Amino acid sequence: MKYIGAHVSASGGVENAPVNAHLIGAKAFGLFTKNQKRWFSKPLEEKNIEAFKENCEKFGYKPFQILPHDSYLINLGHPEQEALKKSRSAFLDEMQRCEQLGLDRLNFHPGSHLKKTNEESCLRTIAESVNITLDKTKGVTAVIENTAGQGTNMGHTFEQIRFIIDLIEDKNRIGVCIDTAHAYSAGYEIRSEEGFANVFKEFDNIVGFKYLRGMHLNDSKKAHASRVDRHDLIGYGTLGQDVFIRIMNDPRFDNIPMILETPDETKWKEEIAFLYKHVR
Ligand SMILES: [Zn+2]
Ligand SMILES: [Zn+2]
Repeated sequence: MKYIGAHVSASGGVENAPVNAHLIGAKAFGLFTKNQKRWFSKPLEEKNIEAFKENCEKFGYKPFQILPHDSYLINLGHPEQEALKKSRSAFLDEMQRCEQLGLDRLNFHPGSHLKKTNEESCLRTIAESVNITLDKTKGVTAVIENTAGQGTNMGHTFEQIRFIIDLIEDKNRIGVCIDTAHAYSAGYEIRSEEGFANVFKEFDNIVGFKYLRGMHLNDSKKAHASRVDRHDLIGYGTLGQDVFIRIMNDPRFDNIPMILETPDETKWKEEIAFLYKHVR
């Protein structure tokens, strides 16, 4: 079964996210559990937590249909100690918020080396950050999102993701989210039927579908291998609609949250309906 939704607003309180998801016909949703552009947010209040759980129950969202996203400020591979400490404590806070909300996974961007260290040491720092956080939390899987490889962002190859996973102590609580736009921009040719087959075979060999805990469904405004992260509406970008129809009919993508992060939220309802229409 396919669970398609979008990264909806939680403005006014986390409890609004499941309502917003329901309004667009989503069977999955993504959200920020705090202001993603700030380091600190006040703790979740009991009344918001309860209302969130009630609304998820009311509209039929189970934890496996929900993919929260961490703050953009966090860099778990930061080469400088003070900044790394700040990122690690913010990430712990994000994981604890997920715990409080009864959620089972948190999507994060791995981190950047900022040209101040090499790629390998950055990946090792990321893994150490995840290990430290998993040690202090329960029941929430850390989900590595593949990146477009913009700037010094790590996580744009399957090998880098595998490198991190290999260093994680609790393999039951590490997962992966594939963003289609990022994969294409990073150089994975998933547009053609043959390319799609090859790339996901490679993904399975190097990372393994058993680690797949979510998808970000985005078309790309940028060319293949451009290493630039710009999302486009489904079917309107350089990827085109066929790859998304292929995903809809591929059982390897069953039973995970598939989240649109496309640029026009007024189109999400239509995009979700379009994708469901193509599930054979
Ligand atoms: Zn994404
Ligand atoms: Zn992106």
